[in-house]
Amino acid sequence: MGFSFDFSSLINLAYIIASILFIYGLKMLGRAETARRGNLVSATGMLLAVVVTLLSGGLSFTWILVGLVVGSAVGVVAARSVQMTAMPEMVALFNGSGGLASLLVGWAEYLREPDVPIATALPIVLAVLIGGIAFTGSVVAFGKLAGRLPGRPMLFRGQQPINAGILAAAAILGLIFILAPASNYSLFLIVIFASLVLGVLAVIPIGGADMPIVISLLNSYSGLAASAAGFILENNVLIVAGSLVGASGLILTQIMCKSMNRSLSNVLFSGFGASVTSGASAVEGEVKALSSEDAYFILEASRSVIFVPGYGMAVAQAQHVVRELADLLEENGAEVRYAIHPVAGRMPGHMNVLLAEANVPYEQLVEPEDVNPSMATIDVAVVIGANDVVNPAAREDQTSPLYGMPIINVDEARTVFVLKRSMNPGFSGVENPLFFKENTRMLFGDAKQTISSLVSEFKEALAA
Ligand code: NDP
Repeated sequence: MGFSFDFSSLINLAYIIASILFIYGLKMLGRAETARRGNLVSATGMLLAVVVTLLSGGLSFTWILVGLVVGSAVGVVAARSVQMTAMPEMVALFNGSGGLASLLVGWAEYLREPDVPIATALPIVLAVLIGGIAFTGSVVAFGKLAGRLPGRPMLFRGQQPINAGILAAAAILGLIFILAPASNYSLFLIVIFASLVLGVLAVIPIGGADMPIVISLLNSYSGLAASAAGFILENNVLIVAGSLVGASGLILTQIMCKSMNRSLSNVLFSGFGASVTSGASAVEGEVKALSSEDAYFILEASRSVIFVPGYGMAVAQAQHVVRELADLLEENGAEVRYAIHPVAGRMPGHMNVLLAEANVPYEQLVEPEDVNPSMATIDVAVVIGANDVVNPAAREDQTSPLYGMPIINVDEARTVFVLKRSMNPGFSGVENPLFFKENTRMLFGDAKQTISSLVSEFKEALAA
């Protein structure tokens, strides 16, 4: 028995290597210490896949080069100019581009050869339908996050039956198309139109606060559409890469739903945040403001401090001074940790990225379930521009829209410092009873300025 190694086996071998690199890289992304290298490993896999695909097909390189130059230029400028706080918007747009690309691949393949067998017509319809939904859905998600569309859910009567009806009609027309593609171009165009409309209609009833989950789900859709495009083009590595994106997007969606204690159907269909601006129960208590000087005295006497960063830390770009304060506290004999909520900030991993940028040691980052049980032993919990993720209404007030969402129980610490500029609510628009609790002290002002003043207090005391 011998091996005959022809060119196509060699290509598939390269694709298998690329796929292994993707999977290995994804696994490495699961831990902060290996994430950077994981990204590089996966990117190497992608480079291999691209080079092998280009060499395999007797292709004309002119348009590929044009696409490469234009795409790279747009990508580099966008990635360099985007603010860290606007990263989710950019991810939404990239997702949408992936969906659109798959839609166009399906459409172009059909135009090139309308008389395709069922085995090709089926993935063409899937690529178009899923890709179209991912495209317009992502554009709406982008609009909501960027504040160009209203963030609140846009609801109208009969919304769900209408959406279900459009989806069913698109599926039936798609089926008829699949059975006789060559003579049904008009049906195909209707399926494209329906998918684009569905993307919009599916996302507008979802509130801005749920956009990260939607983006993660749409990311999964764009992966599935790419996988369908892989079947159309008979490209194995595209099938694998698309499936990986599809599966990991679904897993991330699941993790995010769990960390908000919500089901996916609740996120997609409940119109969360449509009518609420505050918790249903009246908030009682008195707001007690504290100066940085007084806050310093409390911190100076503390043995255990937990920082709880949120979106406001990103806005203030306070991560470097936070690290500086942590170092001073440690020098002063306190144990310092950072509690990171999975949906703190505006994208998954947002706080981790910022703190890594400030070289905060990974081992000081803890998850809510690790720190909550011992919260009562913490001297000071310093909430830095976080709001929804520390809102005790999620635990105490059954009528609150946040009820059931796991939070970081900072209110159980001996003292809580809340650093923010005003009494405004967080992203969900729900009022926060934490600010009125007996053990809470408000440090009003920009988080970076407040932390910088605390750092100065410590330094002055050391110098004295
Ligand atoms: P929130 O949006 O609940 O609160 C942010 C707080 O930061 C506000 O109270 C604001 O108060 C304060 N703030 C803003 N700028 C500054 C500043 N310069 N200095 C000090 N404080 C500032 O943030 P959380 O991180 O607690 O919660 C995240 C929310 O975003 C959740 O509702 C989550 O569902 C949602 N979300 C999460 C995403 C993710 O994937 N992580 C993506 C999209 C949404 P003030 O204006 O008074 O200063």
